[in-house]
Amino acid sequence: RIAPGQNNFTFDFAALDLAEPGRLRYAYRLEGFDPDWVQTGPELRSASYGSLAPGSYVMRIRATNRHGQWSSHELAVPVTVEAAWWQHTSVAVAALVALIAAMYGVIQLRTRQLRVQHLILESKVQERTQALEEASLTDPLTGMRNRRFLSRHIESDIDLVARRYSGYAKYGAEMPKDADLIFYLIDIDHFKALNDELGHAAGDAVLMQLRERFSTVFRDTDYMVRWGGEEFLIVARATDRSHALQLGERVRLAVANTPFALEGGAPIYKTCSVGFACFPLCPTRPSLLDWSKTINVADAALYVAKSRGRNACVGIKDTGHLNDSEILEKLQDTQYFDGTSFTVERTA
Ligand code: GH3
Ligand code: MG
Ligand code: MG
Repeated sequence: RIAPGQNNFTFDFAALDLAEPGRLRYAYRLEGFDPDWVQTGPELRSASYGSLAPGSYVMRIRATNRHGQWSSHELAVPVTVEAAWWQHTSVAVAALVALIAAMYGVIQLRTRQLRVQHLILESKVQERTQALEEASLTDPLTGMRNRRFLSRHIESDIDLVARRYSGYAKYGAEMPKDADLIFYLIDIDHFKALNDELGHAAGDAVLMQLRERFSTVFRDTDYMVRWGGEEFLIVARATDRSHALQLGERVRLAVANTPFALEGGAPIYKTCSVGFACFPLCPTRPSLLDWSKTINVADAALYVAKSRGRNACVGIKDTGHLNDSEILEKLQDTQYFDGTSFTVERTA
């Protein structure tokens, strides 16, 4: 028995001819390992083996007599090479299974890592795209929205209003509540003079503080758009037109009543003029005037506020079936104006 870890062994052998041992010939073969018999002479009577695979073998040895005739007797010694624990089939199978499991684990881990990396990358790209998209819809100076934002979103608001008004318009159902859009155009009064007297930076400082002022009056869901240099469009959404003048007045006062802080200078008071128009201007025919015509009406109202002394709020709630040029004509009519603020309830 060859114990595991014993790498080699040697058989020494001799046939008994004490008179002329030098004339004997030998042959040996380890059955299970040697393919053929190995011939050898009296001078080398040993057979060495090493690194045999575990298993059963037979060491066969034979010899001649001094006349060269092979003896009919043959020595046959069974040899068992024992397997080390790690050479057993079950261990090999377990090792193979463990190896496959490990490889599977590594592949899974790597796949997960790659997937996570991919997700992170994807979310970064998404974030970046969103940031770019945000930037393209935002005015950099004031942080308010720009015209592009409005044209992208307003149509769906208009559709919603049309749906809310459809019952009222078609069958005379009850007039919907909180279903209006109110377009406010707000323009800072004598802004050029501020630039001229205190510099462009002072003008910028005032513009930058407006968003906060407007936020005290309007909701986060309302659209706040920088419409032009010092002119702003605010769309109050899902609002009832009965509050339109009150909201306009509040924004006018939010600008006029609190001074604007200027870096390295005394705070200054500025006023604004507000023009508004409700959508739909004709509740029984919501599609009569589209949103851009409604803004034109708000602009005409703003013009009236300017021409009547500024720091005023002028607006139109409801025009019946008048078309836009008829409304603009009516707006020129001074009889609808009474002091700093007024609203045309129904110009028809
Ligand atoms: P009104 O009361 O009639 O509105 O007079 P106004 O001076 O405000 O109006 P006008 O349209 O004559 O001038 C607007 C000025 O706003 C002119 C322009 O130089 C200034 N302006 C426009 N954009 C900016 C800006 O981003 N920063 C600064 N500082 N000024 C601006
Ligand atoms: Mg102005
Ligand atoms: Mg202006």
